[in-house]
Amino acid sequence: MNRSDCGQLALSLALATALTTADAGKAHEHGVAKLDIALAGSGIVVLLDTPLDSIVGFERAPRSDAEKTRVVAAEARLRDATQLFQLDTSAGCTLAKVVLKAPVLGWGGAAVPEKDTGHADLDASFEFQCRDASRAGAMQLGLFDAFPALSRINVQVAGPKGQVQAVLRKPASRVKLTR
Ligand SMILES: [Zn+2]
Repeated sequence: MNRSDCGQLALSLALATALTTADAGKAHEHGVAKLDIALAGSGIVVLLDTPLDSIVGFERAPRSDAEKTRVVAAEARLRDATQLFQLDTSAGCTLAKVVLKAPVLGWGGAAVPEKDTGHADLDASFEFQCRDASRAGAMQLGLFDAFPALSRINVQVAGPKGQVQAVLRKPASRVKLTR
């Protein structure tokens, strides 16, 4: 091993340690996603945290054309968030912003060398602006349809009246947003 390889290895190890530390205490179970829904004022923010395996079937950079196609298809499904998170039309919500973060796929950050990543998550946020968010009594999730490898979603809703937790098992797809 030459000098520059040594330097790279040290950097890789430091990065791997940083990533592991950041992920410490974070559950990573294939097929299980975490969904946080926050209702605040005229907005609804949805945070999705899921193993990439449940979204594209692998947790590293795509290698084949077939895998690249899966990544493109998954991104399209995620950006079409009004299908994933359907809100009562009377609330008048429109999708304002989608942020996808999965560095191994090149989403929202530099690609991470795959040798350093055993597992990888997707962290995504979806913001809706609503005419009257208080009329959004429930959310219909399209996640199980869009991503068949998902089997459970741990949901937490934070609203003006406190927090509600729920566990949705496939094919259940309705989340109550109010008590
Ligand atoms: Zn994994």
